[in-house]
Amino acid sequence: MNSSVVVGLQWGDEGKGKVSYLLSRGADAVVRFQGGANAGHTVVLDGRRLKFNILPAGSASGARPVIGAGCIVDVERLEGELSMLQSIGVQARPLISRFAGVVLSLHKDLDGSLEALRGKAIGTTRMGIGPAYADKCLRIGLRVGDLSRKAVLAEKLRLIGKFHNLPTGEDFERLSEAGGRLAQFVGDTTSYLVGLLKGGGRVVFEGAQGALLDLDYGTYPYVTSSHTLAGAASIGSGVPHTMLGDVVGVMKAYTTRVGGGPFPTEIDGGLAEIIRSSGAEYGTTTGRPRRVGWLDIPALRYACMLNGVSWLAVTKLDVLSNIDEVKVCVRYLCDGVEYESLAGLEDLSGARPVYEVFKGWRADASEWSEAVKGGWDMLPSNAREYLGFVEKMLGVGIGLVSVGEPVGYEVFKEDRYA
Ligand code: GDP
Repeated sequence: MNSSVVVGLQWGDEGKGKVSYLLSRGADAVVRFQGGANAGHTVVLDGRRLKFNILPAGSASGARPVIGAGCIVDVERLEGELSMLQSIGVQARPLISRFAGVVLSLHKDLDGSLEALRGKAIGTTRMGIGPAYADKCLRIGLRVGDLSRKAVLAEKLRLIGKFHNLPTGEDFERLSEAGGRLAQFVGDTTSYLVGLLKGGGRVVFEGAQGALLDLDYGTYPYVTSSHTLAGAASIGSGVPHTMLGDVVGVMKAYTTRVGGGPFPTEIDGGLAEIIRSSGAEYGTTTGRPRRVGWLDIPALRYACMLNGVSWLAVTKLDVLSNIDEVKVCVRYLCDGVEYESLAGLEDLSGARPVYEVFKGWRADASEWSEAVKGGWDMLPSNAREYLGFVEKMLGVGIGLVSVGEPVGYEVFKEDRYA
């Protein structure tokens, strides 16, 4: 099938935005299938930093943006991002599933109060996505298709407000007006995408968050409120799973995590600060400093297995430059037992990482530019050794490495991935 599913293999922020953009060039459509504006996908293109929360970042390439039923839509952000695309000369005509959920102001308030109630912060972005999904499961959720039907909209708002015992008054006018403007874009994503794929078109599915934040398979309860795995691309966009093609697993050359929850390879102190500042590890949506740590093979093995990853895209290799020693966790020790994969380990809090140590690499922007021009063999040899070790440990090949933030700073390993 001429389609690719781009997913994060860690705790999000892997650089899916840039990878999705690279793969969406020349594609017909690019699809968000889960999550909402709790995602923050960045593409740095021709000196401009484009930040996407609800539209797929791949739409900066001109591929048609599609928002599937598995998503929760924030209508203001959606309209804002359509204007942003227009400002870079992309006249996007999105297709939004009539079944996608809609986030209300009260969902954002609920996100904040739930975080306080839990006592231990799970690190929600407070975009209201979890509460909006909860309403969907309760069968009271507002859907995009309801926005242009005033009577239905009013009745649903009344019901949701009553259930939560919170006001929805302001939402009616705001949503009804937005519904009128967006009606032209609302439709059936299944017919469109299946038709496109059957006709030989190319589609990219752009996942949000990461495997270890999956609602079921991640480090619950420190997870997101949707399914982040490649399988979710099918249900979340209404395309049969037999039409999904390659699964591209995006991973940073190290690990980060936002908010609470176990993180066996976390580091702190001076080195953590160096990586945090050179990698600009502050949340795209929230501005929060991200926790940083070494690469975690047991966690990545689990993520590759869950997703059925076809090939890897490794990002932010440049961030690890000029560090003397780079470590990789190859297994965990937990109560005297060794674990080579996170699978089967219910409680990660007692997992102690066992590291292999690699010599670091010296490189600055000019060395990376040379590698971009010269190809794989021009990458610093210690970095190639590191990447080769990752491939061997995960049993999956690397297709591309990103060595700088802007589009243009990436090296494809083999032509077939480009
Ligand atoms: P996403 O949520 O997976 O799309 O990731 P984010 O966009 O939140 O975070 C990735 C950040 O890293 C963004 O600011 C990207 O522009 C940036 N980025 C992506 N690839 C690279 C890279 O190879 N090197 C550096 N230094 N930054 C990168």
